[in-house]
Amino acid sequence: MKNFDSDQTLIETNKELTQHLFELHNIFKVSAELTSIIDVAKLKYTYLVNVIGILRASGAILLLPTNVHSKNLKVSLYRGFEKSFLDAISIPIYPIVQNSLQEYSGTYNILDIENKNSRLLLQEHYDSLKKSGIKLIAPLTHLDDFIGLMLVGESINPNGFRPTDYDLFSILNNFFSTVHSHASLINKLKNLSSTDYLTNLLNRRAFNSALASEISRSVRHGLEFSLVLVDIDHFKQYNDNNGHLAGDAALKIFARLLRHCARSSDIISRFGGEEFAIILIGVDNEGALPFCERLLKSINTYAFENAQQQPLGCVSASIGTAYFPGNAQSEKELITCADLALYQAKNAGRNCIRQFENNLYDNSDSNPEKAFSNE
Ligand code: GH3
Ligand code: MG
Ligand code: MG
Repeated sequence: MKNFDSDQTLIETNKELTQHLFELHNIFKVSAELTSIIDVAKLKYTYLVNVIGILRASGAILLLPTNVHSKNLKVSLYRGFEKSFLDAISIPIYPIVQNSLQEYSGTYNILDIENKNSRLLLQEHYDSLKKSGIKLIAPLTHLDDFIGLMLVGESINPNGFRPTDYDLFSILNNFFSTVHSHASLINKLKNLSSTDYLTNLLNRRAFNSALASEISRSVRHGLEFSLVLVDIDHFKQYNDNNGHLAGDAALKIFARLLRHCARSSDIISRFGGEEFAIILIGVDNEGALPFCERLLKSINTYAFENAQQQPLGCVSASIGTAYFPGNAQSEKELITCADLALYQAKNAGRNCIRQFENNLYDNSDSNPEKAFSNE
């Protein structure tokens, strides 16, 4: 005779195993997807929507530090919660939760806020979290680094979250934390390799690559742009008079003045020691002049330390410009043109602007060989 009960158990077990298999397959796919992402914004989005989907939760909120040095968390991404709720709870609760979680992270990897120990940790914040529909809180860590917090809403299943949901959530959190940490490191290294340590402007390597891109873009879309080279006058003397540290401070101020005079879309770099290169996007020869005049005025009038002791009675710079494609057809040629114009400005007594003219190569007061030597 057929045993109905054991048949039924078998069917149930089979169903459960199929479900587990499906979930494992799913988590495998999502993990593979997460590990292939290096764009942080895309990573956060993929993680958050998959947490909601796989856990069948009503929503989720990802909290990350406001910046690398900060312990304060702020909402980075969310789905399924009211914006007004996020505004109301973001500041007072999270640092406390973060500290508590860090302290107890071994035992309380994922907090169910209804759990007795969790309620002890959350103290007076329990009520507001409960009222807003938060059910789970997970600290996100990678090695010893605290990455952030993930808050998850209620389960949309009538029976609530199942034990396996905690495992799946943990796996996703670990993947996210690891990949986020690696992606942030890659971004940091990218920034370091393209930034000048003193001025925080782009360095020469990044400038070269930006100039090449701008030329390609310009050729593709038939656009013009200008290259401006700025060389501080008598800077050796400034260092001799005021010391190297004051010289460094002056270079930082130069970077600030350049940023202030340029548009946010322009590309500003430290070209060499006391030389700067600026790519003025979409600006032709004529348009470059007002920028240079503005810049020179701001340099002359800035209260640099002992500025009046400089040979010209103020801190000054010589400026040379050239534009693409009017003056040159390649990166090298464009730099040569702007450099020749700069050399002319130096020759004309410094503290002035010269724009490259196509007959400058033949001009008697410009000597290209001298212009490229290390004066
Ligand atoms: P000119 O008007 O002909 O450009 O004269 P100059 O003195 O500015 O030019 P020169 O090439 O003779 O000297 C450049 C000076 O810039 C010498 C160098 O010590 C200084 N310099 C370059 N990089 C730095 C830096 O990072 N910090 C400081 N403090 N000085 C720097
Ligand atoms: Mg120089
Ligand atoms: Mg100089």
